[in-house]
Amino acid sequence: MSIYFSDTDCKAESIEAIADASRDYGGIEFGAPRSVLRPESAGDLAVLIAAARREGFAVAARGRGHSVRGQSLAPGGVVVDMRSLAKVELCAGNALDVGAGADWASALSHVLPCGLWPPVLPNYLGLSIGGTVSVGGIGEATFRHGFISGAASSLEAVTGCGEVLICSADQNPELFAALQGGLGQFAMITRARISLVPAPSRLRSFHLLYAEVEEFLEDFERLARSDSELRGLRGLAIPNRGDYLAFFLGPAGSSGWSPRGVPPHRFPHLFLMTATYGGDEPAAISGGFLSDLQYIPGASRTEELSGEEIALSPPVNRAPAHPWVDLLIPRRGAAPFLRDAMALLPMDDIGGPVLLYPILPERTRASSCRLPEDDFVVLLSVSRAIDPTLDPRRRQQELSAALEQNRELYRRCRRIGGLSYPIGSLGLQPEDWRDHFGAQWQRLQELKERYDPDRILAPGQHMFSNFSDAKH
Ligand SMILES: Cc1cc2nc3c(=O)[nH]c(=O)nc-3n(C[C@H](O)[C@H](O)[C@H](O)COP(=O)(O)OP(=O)(O)OC[C@H]3O[C@@H](n4cnc5c(N)ncnc54)[C@H](O)[C@@H]3O)c2cc1C
Repeated sequence: MSIYFSDTDCKAESIEAIADASRDYGGIEFGAPRSVLRPESAGDLAVLIAAARREGFAVAARGRGHSVRGQSLAPGGVVVDMRSLAKVELCAGNALDVGAGADWASALSHVLPCGLWPPVLPNYLGLSIGGTVSVGGIGEATFRHGFISGAASSLEAVTGCGEVLICSADQNPELFAALQGGLGQFAMITRARISLVPAPSRLRSFHLLYAEVEEFLEDFERLARSDSELRGLRGLAIPNRGDYLAFFLGPAGSSGWSPRGVPPHRFPHLFLMTATYGGDEPAAISGGFLSDLQYIPGASRTEELSGEEIALSPPVNRAPAHPWVDLLIPRRGAAPFLRDAMALLPMDDIGGPVLLYPILPERTRASSCRLPEDDFVVLLSVSRAIDPTLDPRRRQQELSAALEQNRELYRRCRRIGGLSYPIGSLGLQPEDWRDHFGAQWQRLQELKERYDPDRILAPGQHMFSNFSDAKH
């Protein structure tokens, strides 16, 4: 185990470790911990928890720090750099035994050569397994297999009482469900066993353009429900501009698509649906499913991905701040909500993709993740970024405006029964969490009392009042 201190230790490695642990990908919240721990085992974490309870400091696990609003920070406390728990092993029964600090890229590099992969992957493979399980995790195959965390068949975790527990559907089932989407509130996950499924050797994606949000949503839901061969389904909202169309569909004419059907600027935004199949599957070869869909005739592109390309993540945007907002929209209010959202957001200048993922709640399993009450839900994920070329004052103004717009979207989303997917920059406070969890809130409070009675874990989520409030 290695420990890096903020005040007594002036070595370059310590300064770097403390600086890393003082910020996250979002670049909105900052807070230096008193020290950073790189554990070698769950036992090291049990020792840390005992000290935290005795001395009264907070502890936050940090997977890769890809949160955007300080969720992995522990100002004045201890940040646990989980990268030191990252051993990956393929084990019997098509499963992966993996340290929670490993990322999806290293997990994939172990299993893809054996023709296996997890049922759902995030779109960026640099996230840690523990960090993803802790938020639930949504990817292109969530419509079929549920949250990414649903592939965990067991978890090893160190609770806020310092107990090292194994949990699964049969052993400590209540904690097992609570840890999936539990936002680090009850325990630090140290290992996970992830069930794997056969991976395709290549993929074939169909990119289809829509002008009408209602038609897009109808086809999104129809495909999500009906097609058993479909492996991935995702949408993008894009400005109706030639450069965007050329980027996503290729240059008009040369790649076989025709701009003739693309409507004029009465439609400022368009929707691009991507349906992905295994390259050898009949639907992918015949493209037969296309005839039932309502996309703009001629506005489509087909793309092949080889085995190696499957394991590549898109590059990460390194802007100074990332005020992301992620909202779960019930189908019944989705079309007007999306129209309004596109009008409110500065879509031409948003800095990152505006993604849409379909979710069928009936295909998700017991977890702490809350979904709106509807039988079809859409995740709207707005990856906003602040322009790095702005001067610091303008940056701060843009950031404040973006955070206020995000809050406004959240208010509108709550009015139609939608919820936050809690990875974004909304900065929810205890009263927002009570509202978010509704009838589940009482049970979560009981779990907190049982597994982290001193409220030392993951203070950056602001879900419960913190350690010192709990003590007084
Ligand atoms: C470029 C990018 C792409 C993304 N793509 C997706 C996507 O496709 N799908 C999706 O669902 N999300 C996505 N996210 C969001 C991401 O899943 C969350 O931000 C996730 O928490 C980040 O993982 P991390 O390992 O960096 O966690 P961190 O940011 O380090 O931690 C997040 C929270 O989880 C807690 N935590 C971390 N590790 C553990 C652990 N082992 N045990 C208990 N608690 C822990 C932390 O204390 C913190 O509260 C993306 C984020 C980025 C920046």
